[in-house]
Amino acid sequence: MPVKNRFAELHDEITAWRRDIHEHPELLYETDRTSALVADKLTEFGCDEVVTGIGRTGVIGVIKGNSDSSGRVIGLRADMDALPILEDTGVPYASKTPGVMHACGHDGHTAMLLGAAKYLSETRNFNGTVVVIFQPAEEGGAGGKAMCDDGLMDRWGIQEVYGMHNWPGQDAGTFSIRPGAFFAATDVFEIDFQGKGGHAAKPHETVDTTVMAAQAILALQTIASRNADPVDQVVVSVTSFETSSKAFNVIPQGVSLRGTVRTLAPETRDLAQTRIIEICNGIAATFGGTVEIDYVRNYPVMVNSEQETDFAVEVARSVSGECADAPLVMGGEDFAFMLEERPGAYILVGNGDTSPVHHPKYNFNDEIIPAGCSWYAEIAEKRMPAA
Ligand SMILES: [Zn+2]
Ligand SMILES: [Zn+2]
Repeated sequence: MPVKNRFAELHDEITAWRRDIHEHPELLYETDRTSALVADKLTEFGCDEVVTGIGRTGVIGVIKGNSDSSGRVIGLRADMDALPILEDTGVPYASKTPGVMHACGHDGHTAMLLGAAKYLSETRNFNGTVVVIFQPAEEGGAGGKAMCDDGLMDRWGIQEVYGMHNWPGQDAGTFSIRPGAFFAATDVFEIDFQGKGGHAAKPHETVDTTVMAAQAILALQTIASRNADPVDQVVVSVTSFETSSKAFNVIPQGVSLRGTVRTLAPETRDLAQTRIIEICNGIAATFGGTVEIDYVRNYPVMVNSEQETDFAVEVARSVSGECADAPLVMGGEDFAFMLEERPGAYILVGNGDTSPVHHPKYNFNDEIIPAGCSWYAEIAEKRMPAA
């Protein structure tokens, strides 16, 4: 069965919601307007329960099926936040907030899940309960974790969760997915070397932190090349090198490095953290300086569970005929926290030949709305068939 006819009928309406959200982008947890819009729509659709303020500005809607003898509860999730980017799309509904734009398509995700919620509230053609989850702060703020910490899964008895992201470069409206590890853990670190500053012409009287930091940058590359199993993926990138003095003739007292670590397995993540600390401490000791290392674990590896991924593939095939194998993604995804708490699956829906996400010219492709809505709706209908 291709996309649901109802979504062809609703296409213009859902597109209008999407463009309205696009015009009014909001960052991280500051999704007040978007959250209010979502809550109003869910109430208007006749959801059995609409709750705001979960994970600060997150919103949930509960939709009960025609029967509930299955006792099943499925969570469907979308993200609502935008990015601090100056929009350059030139579309008539471009951001009205300079420097903030929906450059990751979360406007589209929110609109598609609203569309599915409208349809599911109208039809109720399933045996169980659907919880639609709208989260803030996907872009680095761990809004998904905040919702979980507020008891999202237990409070509504959610048993499985499903999410979706649009994917530029993949044919519009087609799906791709992979079981197991899918998106990387995204950790960050700050390494602060301290030595003894002094005159650049008298290095013997100093403890030179630029040399320490330079050695560290090179040595950190051996985590991927010499420490990690070659079949495991790990990226260690130093992205900032800041000296305490910018002068030509001063050996700086301190150097601060910043960077990120991307891994796809918990053991590799532990290994990278341990080795960064060991290597930097070793280098500081070797050169007579000291070091402080602040390693922050951000989003964990996002892991699709096997059975739910198979089911997501079946639904994707039913909507668009096929479902491709997606490559591993070294970017991070906040949905990882929800998948740590419950089995489920995260799928990519093609955005067609558009600019990549996080680019000033990126725009969500409204043509894919019926496919995305259909996937969300059929996850509920097929997982909890009407009695
Ligand atoms: Zn993004
Ligand atoms: Zn995104």
